[in-house]
Amino acid sequence: MPALDALLEQKLLLLEHKQQKRTIRSVSRQSHAAIQRGGKGLISFSCNDYLGLSHHPELVAASHNALESYGAGAGASRLITGNCPLYDMLEQQLADYKHTEAACVFGSGYLANMGTIPALVGAGDLIIADKLIHACMIDAAKLSGATLMRFAHNKLEHCQMLLESHRNDYQHCLILTETIFSMDGDCAPLTELAALAERYDATLMTDDAHGLGVLPVSAHPASAIQMGTLSKAAGSYGGYVCGSKILIDYLKTAARSLIYSTALPPAVLAASSKAIELMRSQPELGAKALENARLFTTLLELPEAQSAIVPLILGESEKALAAARLLEEKGYEVVAIRPPTVPENSARLRFTFSAQHQKSDIQALAAIIREYIL
Ligand SMILES: *Cc1c(COP(=O)(O)O)cnc(C)c1O
Repeated sequence: MPALDALLEQKLLLLEHKQQKRTIRSVSRQSHAAIQRGGKGLISFSCNDYLGLSHHPELVAASHNALESYGAGAGASRLITGNCPLYDMLEQQLADYKHTEAACVFGSGYLANMGTIPALVGAGDLIIADKLIHACMIDAAKLSGATLMRFAHNKLEHCQMLLESHRNDYQHCLILTETIFSMDGDCAPLTELAALAERYDATLMTDDAHGLGVLPVSAHPASAIQMGTLSKAAGSYGGYVCGSKILIDYLKTAARSLIYSTALPPAVLAASSKAIELMRSQPELGAKALENARLFTTLLELPEAQSAIVPLILGESEKALAAARLLEEKGYEVVAIRPPTVPENSARLRFTFSAQHQKSDIQALAAIIREYIL
């Protein structure tokens, strides 16, 4: 066996031993939160398609039309020849929806963070980030070369303490948080963080991956830099940053993940545009996803859901895995989230709710959890 394979085999065995080896399973998704896996039909409570838009007939039709008009692929980076006219329309829609001057669409949410953060800060600058922010913000912060400090999750006093002690030692300062935390489903105190940013001459950047389309949009955004994804509630694919015209002009000339990567396929842009249109015209979709999450937390006497994400923390990885297996046998797809994605001993089932779930499915799921898991 080649030396590299031997080394990797050892690493895989170790991960397996720690219950941390990941496997990717094939799944065929249908509308209304139904999936097919290994010939078996399941109801999914682990998809981020919160509004059910990925299979919406209007998104499918818009994609189809763009495919016919513009072809399958973009052909080049946006800065070369890949800037399909659909980009202008989508960016205008995003800026209008988010109440900002401008927007920039990226290849994905991951690429939006990887392009934006290193474009804005570097060596000699400071990033102060919530302990639970998404891996791609952390990766981007590391890539930037700025000094990275973390504050305890949603703890304003800790954030302020770091600003008070260290702000003056650095040139620029970026505060990073999420609007809705992806593994816990709770909200960040945005107004208070914005006030701290103002007071310490820092810039607040928020990742709204799980908020877009689910929570109402504020007419007065707290953060100067609103990043998000078109891959979740929008049911499509891509990432974006909304902010001032100067910020967006700068990103379009400095964000490396935008410059050195091929533009999105036109059909994807058309689906995203249709999704933003539907989010604006049908805010009841987001409200329904939230209502479904709240039905679940009420039935299980959990703290009231603040978003479409509800964690059920079970502790050990094995316990979460066994619970996920049991729910699968009963006809539900729910994913066990384990370290290192979440802190040690906080392995959990992560439920996500969609506007398309039926009340009866949520009631049946809660009854099974009460009987077998809690
Ligand atoms: C999913 C996610 C991303 C990445 O977005 P993609 O479009 O899937 O690359 C970024 N941040 C958070 C918080 C996410 O949950």
